[in-house]
Amino acid sequence: MGVPLKQAWKVGSYVIRQHLAGNKRYPLVLMLEPLFRCNLACAGCGKIDYPSEILNQRLSYEECIRASEECPAPVIAIAGGEPLLHKEMPKIVAELLRRGKFVYLCTNALLLEKKMDEFEPAPNFSWDVHLDGDREMHDNSVCQDGVYDRAVAAIKKAKARGFRVSINCTLFDGAEPERVARFYDDVMAMGVDGIMTAPGYAYERAPDQEHFLNRQKTKELFRGILRHGKGHGWKFTQSPLFMNFLAGNEDFHCTPWGKPTRTVFGWQRPCYLLGEGYAPTFQALMDETDWDSYGTGNYEKCADCMVHSGYESTAVMAAVKRPIHTAIVALRGPKTEGPMAPEIDLTHQRKADYVFTDIVETKLAEIRAEKAASRKPGKPSVAPVVRKVEPATAAE
Ligand code: SF4
Repeated sequence: MGVPLKQAWKVGSYVIRQHLAGNKRYPLVLMLEPLFRCNLACAGCGKIDYPSEILNQRLSYEECIRASEECPAPVIAIAGGEPLLHKEMPKIVAELLRRGKFVYLCTNALLLEKKMDEFEPAPNFSWDVHLDGDREMHDNSVCQDGVYDRAVAAIKKAKARGFRVSINCTLFDGAEPERVARFYDDVMAMGVDGIMTAPGYAYERAPDQEHFLNRQKTKELFRGILRHGKGHGWKFTQSPLFMNFLAGNEDFHCTPWGKPTRTVFGWQRPCYLLGEGYAPTFQALMDETDWDSYGTGNYEKCADCMVHSGYESTAVMAAVKRPIHTAIVALRGPKTEGPMAPEIDLTHQRKADYVFTDIVETKLAEIRAEKAASRKPGKPSVAPVVRKVEPATAAE
C-alpha cells in the first residue's frame, strides 16, 4: 500500500461517516492550485499558456487555509503550476498539517533540493514528484533535458532526510508496458513510498493534442504494465479498485465532486481537468453545479477520460460498498486477461462547450480593474471578485 495506514484508516472512516449521514456527494481530496506559474513548459500541460497577468496571480496563505476550511476533504493535494514558486508554501503546508490534513505537495522537483530545508518531514506530509517515466520518457514529456536526473537526485535527498516521497506518473500514447514496468521497478528501488499513475488527459489547451490515450488504449496499456509487474511489490497511492478500473475491470462512472479544485479563478467546475466555470464558494460549487451534465457518456470533452480526478473517488466509494471484492482485488491484483467491463455508451453525450477564452478575458478585466483602482489615490481597492460562470446544462 502506497499510503500510510493512518491515512487509509482516516479516509475510510470519513467515507463511512459520509455514507451513514446519507451524503450523496462529498469531497475526498481538495486539489489546491495556488498558482499556474511554472518553471517548465510541458507539452501535455493545459495551464502554462495563460497570459502572464494570470500566471502572476497567487492564492494567498489566507485563501489557501480558507479553502481547506470550506472543503472538509481529509487529503489536500497542492498542485499548480509549480507550488515551490509560491513564497508562502512552507507556511501553508505547516498550517494544513497542524489542522490534521494529509498533504501531498506536487512538484517537478527542480527547486526541491534548494527549498527542502523550509519543510519538515512529517507522517502526514509527502512530496509528490512529477516523473513521467525513465530519463528519456520524462525529459521528452517535460520538453527539457536533464530534468529526470535532477528529480531523481532530489528524491534521493528527500528520502535521506526522512521525507515521505511519492511519484506522479502520467502516461501518454506510445508508452511501452515493459518499459513503464522497468521504470516502476526503478522508482521502487529508489525507496519511494508510492506511485500515483494516470493516463494523460487531452486538455483542450495542451499544446500537444496528439499523444493522449483513449479509454481502450488506456486499459490495454495498464493491463500490459500490470502483467509485467506481477509480484514486483509496486506500491500505488491509488486504491486497488482504481487500478482495477485502469485495467478495464470496473464499469465506474465519474464522480468529479470527490476532488474539488480551488484555483486563482475560484472553485473550478466540474473538475481538476476541465475549467468550465467557477463558483465563489465550495458550497456553491457543490450545490449549483449540474453534475449530471459531466462525466464520460454525458459530455464530449469527457469521452476519453479515465483520470483519478474523476474516478479515484468513485473507486474509494465503491470499496466501502464492496469490501470483499476490494480485498480480493487487493490480494490478487487487477485481472490482466479476459473480457473487460462494458464501456460507457457515448451516443447521448452533449457537445463540447468552449468557454476558456471568455473566462480568461473576464479574469483579465478583473485584474486590470483591481490594478487601476489601487493606483487611484484615496480610492478603496476593489475586492477580488470570483466570477460565477453559469454551469452548463445537458440541454445546452
Ligand atoms: S470524466 Fe470527470 S474527471 Fe474526466 S474530464 Fe470529465 S468531469 Fe473531469
